[in-house]
Amino acid sequence: MALDTLQRPKRKNPILRTRLPTLPPAARSRVALGLTAAAARGRFELQVCRDCGAVQYPPREVCHACLSERLVWRAQDGRGELLTESVLRHAQELFFRERVPWRVGIVRLDAGVNVIAYVHANVATAPVRVRVTAALDRAGQAVLVAVAAEGRTDLSDDAKLREMTCDPRFRKVLVTDGKSPVGQAVVRALAAAGADQLWVGEAEPWKTFAGFAALGDLPQVAIVPLDVTNGRSVRELAGEIGAKVDIVVNTADCHRTFGIAARRGIETAQLEMDVNYFGLLRLAQEFAPLLKARAADGRAGAIAWVNLLSIFALSNYPPHGTYSASKAAALSLSQALRAELRQAGLRVINLFPGPIDDDWDQLELPPKLSPDAVAAAVVAALKGSVEDVYPGDVAQDWLARHLDNSKALERELSEQAP
Ligand SMILES: [Zn+2]
Repeated sequence: MALDTLQRPKRKNPILRTRLPTLPPAARSRVALGLTAAAARGRFELQVCRDCGAVQYPPREVCHACLSERLVWRAQDGRGELLTESVLRHAQELFFRERVPWRVGIVRLDAGVNVIAYVHANVATAPVRVRVTAALDRAGQAVLVAVAAEGRTDLSDDAKLREMTCDPRFRKVLVTDGKSPVGQAVVRALAAAGADQLWVGEAEPWKTFAGFAALGDLPQVAIVPLDVTNGRSVRELAGEIGAKVDIVVNTADCHRTFGIAARRGIETAQLEMDVNYFGLLRLAQEFAPLLKARAADGRAGAIAWVNLLSIFALSNYPPHGTYSASKAAALSLSQALRAELRQAGLRVINLFPGPIDDDWDQLELPPKLSPDAVAAAVVAALKGSVEDVYPGDVAQDWLARHLDNSKALERELSEQAP
């Protein structure tokens, strides 16, 4: 199969009925979900036996070599040899039948196991060296993909595998807050990545923000009024553009730092909740049904929802106690949104950056993420096949500590109480 470059999608014929979405089969055993949990973070992991070192595939309860139950998930480099391949031209499942032919093969990993994987169009005919990666299919489950051992390995270079990405090229995107440094950086990065249309929300038109007016010079950008703390504002914008949006990137964020005792009253905390939690809820209520209705239009349809959360959503960081709480609430709601949108094959991507180099994190010690780094992570997540993104060293460090022992992380962070 030849490589196929992404083309601008044809305009949809408004007379044709919108297809109902079909999804690949999603049932997995609990142990097999370990593969999905790693793929959601962009990693290919397999179980390894702590007693004899044997690598396991498919995922299982006990070691295939020594029957030990001490199996742990470990990152794999995926290097191996494509032994044999085949092109599937028939399928029982509707999702696969709509999309035949599929190129699949058996890869002998250097780690010692054979896996079945989709084969990227950039891979030469078997036998050949390849690298196996894990990706999320449209049902949000892990699948394995064999890509060329060297050179470009973008899933979006292959017409079939592209469906596992949410490439913003030729897409119509709503960025909910374009005024913040992160919002501006996200708009510029999406424009550079080839987005066709960018609606950029402006909450308080009477306030000026450095750099915001210049966004209007980008040919793809239309500034639109959007205040996520106002239900009517969200509803009016959804009525105007909701039926055209392919990707929502929710950059609306309210961060006023401080712990519990530092301020009297709850007004500041309420404002954080109103933007970070209720703002997401208002957006989801108005825009999610419209996105779901257009999810089956493929390349000309709705595809993804991105939330700018915070690493503080995983565990409360006392100097930013109320902000952490609002982001934890938003994380929980995003999981509900993900469950609802996944039924239509739409992907919800959450970003968990550490402290960002802006006004509200000025007391944090470096390293801090630049707004451009956050924006690059948004674009990379859309072009790839992931659900959860932890950009930067601080976020990676917190995640590792959280996965290792979430209670220990809570105690470590409590040492930072204001
Ligand atoms: Zn073993």
